[in-house]
Amino acid sequence: MRRGLLWLSLLRRTAPPSLPPEPGPFDNAMMARALSLAEEAAALGEVPVGAVVFHSASGTVLGEGFNRREVDHDPAAHAELLAIRRASARLRDWRLNECTLAVTLEPCAMCAGLIVNARVGRLVFAATDPKAGAAGSLYRLTEDARLNHRVTPISGVMAPRSSALLRAFFSSLRAGRSGKA
Ligand SMILES: [Zn+2]
Repeated sequence: MRRGLLWLSLLRRTAPPSLPPEPGPFDNAMMARALSLAEEAAALGEVPVGAVVFHSASGTVLGEGFNRREVDHDPAAHAELLAIRRASARLRDWRLNECTLAVTLEPCAMCAGLIVNARVGRLVFAATDPKAGAAGSLYRLTEDARLNHRVTPISGVMAPRSSALLRAFFSSLRAGRSGKA
């Protein structure tokens, strides 16, 4: 009996990190929705990032958010965090195994940590973030075998639209600054 349990724990330790990610039927539509949320952020002078949490099987939207760091004076007010909190509140459950997070930019270390803590079942993102990305660029937090939940991201979904939005935002920011100087 004990030996059997030991084997089970060994098998669990050596199990593959996660199933290979497969594109879902709602990924593109949800990313389009996240991109319009990112546009709302830009209109408020926020770095344009939007996120949607939806039920993976049915496509039901459970939580949405866009970056609100400036308006809320909150360093943690990232799109993913707001969307995850709303989805958990709506489901009355902090575990989001049955859910997908679609976000327009690769999550940072804080949000990747939250994705692991919330047991998010699927992660889909658009543009990569070479400066702060923690889902493949700088770190692979969501795939770390030492953590108790893993999710292999699907990246590049509608990435050109997200990148264009971010580029336009930062160039208008620079233009504004040089205009003031
Ligand atoms: Zn973040």
